[in-house]
Amino acid sequence: MLIGGELVHSVTGEFDDSINPATEEVIGRSPRASAEDVDRAVQAANAAWPQWSALGPASRAKALRAFGEAVQERAEEILHVEVKDTGNTITPMRGDVGMGVTSLNYYAGLAHELKGETFPSTEDKLHLTLREPYGIVARIAPFNHPLMFAVARTAAALAAGNAVIVKPPETSPLSAMVLAEIAQSVLPPGVFNILTGDGPSAGDAIVRHPEIKRIAFIGSAKTGRMIQKAAAEVAVKHVTLELGGKNPLIAFADADPAKVAEAAIKGMNFAWQGQSCGSTSRLLLHTDIYDAVLEQIVEKVSCLKLGDPMDPDTGMGPMNSLRQYDKVLSFFESSVKDGAKLMTGGKVPEGTQFQKGFWVEPTVYADIKPSMRLWHEEVFGPILGVGRWSTFDEAVELANSVEYGLTGAVWTNNIHDALKMVRKIRSGHTWINGVGAHYLGVPFGGYKNSGVGREEGIEEMFSYTEAKTVNIVLD
Ligand code: NAD
Repeated sequence: MLIGGELVHSVTGEFDDSINPATEEVIGRSPRASAEDVDRAVQAANAAWPQWSALGPASRAKALRAFGEAVQERAEEILHVEVKDTGNTITPMRGDVGMGVTSLNYYAGLAHELKGETFPSTEDKLHLTLREPYGIVARIAPFNHPLMFAVARTAAALAAGNAVIVKPPETSPLSAMVLAEIAQSVLPPGVFNILTGDGPSAGDAIVRHPEIKRIAFIGSAKTGRMIQKAAAEVAVKHVTLELGGKNPLIAFADADPAKVAEAAIKGMNFAWQGQSCGSTSRLLLHTDIYDAVLEQIVEKVSCLKLGDPMDPDTGMGPMNSLRQYDKVLSFFESSVKDGAKLMTGGKVPEGTQFQKGFWVEPTVYADIKPSMRLWHEEVFGPILGVGRWSTFDEAVELANSVEYGLTGAVWTNNIHDALKMVRKIRSGHTWINGVGAHYLGVPFGGYKNSGVGREEGIEEMFSYTEAKTVNIVLD
């Protein structure tokens, strides 16, 4: 772990094994942080942030760019560790390090925007605001893109003058340990701290530490709600949550079936086994194009190459962990029981190479309905559910009929329908004739139980600051 610029073990000396989900081999281990380690990290961060903040935006920006360059230098090594530790496939995962570095550069460029405001008043008064850092920002991250979250989603907090404490996911912590070495070599001690360990001990101790007021969480809605509660039991805290989704892709009758099929597959993120919060896992097709789109999807999904995530041609790897594997299997069972029509997949793949590891087949169910578990619950796995609609109002109702509201995609060539629909969808991040993509500087976040707050744009940086008003009496 990285605490106060030192690479350290946990106080208890305990470790957790990290398992390659493709082979079930132990490929590394990470220290299991306890509340005492969290306290050590808080002390280090508290010692570091005033000086880091006092450096000013230009020097912090320079340091962030240097951090990005150092990460880039070890990109290939990080990629290999990440692919083996997560099970995500290597070709698209090349983008994750790049996204982290781009984000460091983006927030480095924005650091001079940490401006306050002045307010109109009488001649003898002056009122202004200063943006000041919270001091310590904790970032708790999920397993689907560990390195990317540890870098890209701490950049704004660092640019704003905070020290950060990162808790990587317990099932895939190894890339963060490489990052610990990099941060140690380029950032001032205590500015960037990494604590490995599980949620109930390390994570909870971070959330409950009275000196960490700002917590930024990415993970499941269930954990997000636990974090809000635990934080509130200790102190008044600023908690932002990026949570799960059960996102609709709504295709109108005029949309090109081939393009919709392609988008539906892209939107499922099979390259990381559908383990993406933004996956459009409910495909809602107008009844006129239902059969044509479904046929093309089934044909393409059944040809996806399942196999070694390190092979550049692989289309889908194993589930991240036994927990995720079991969850997907439980959906295979309940979906059929609930009456969904299995079109492809729906089982564990056959063959000697799949005897070890957490393998499931990419899967499509047709005729999904709001009465089914698959309709409402996030799988966070490679299961696409396809449902149908006939009227505009019906599509709106179906799209919004879940507790989540993270992303939503609308496919039509009619701009009137597209805009009308996109305004009706209760989701934070929407696309018209697009899917899946995040865009630099464009805010990302969820409505309803998909979260609180927006990340990835300038407002993420502002969210790591508090405004201090200064009232100056001139007479
Ligand atoms: P998770 O909620 O199980 O765990 C996420 C992180 O929280 C891990 O680091 C874990 O150790 C920690 N944690 C667990 N219990 C905790 C507790 N009591 N206190 C503090 N920390 C705790 O989620 P996961 O299974 O790792 O990730 C999958 C979920 O993440 C999905 O629901 C997915 O949609 C969501 N996700 C959301 C976004 C987004 O931007 N909205 C992005 C990626 C993933």
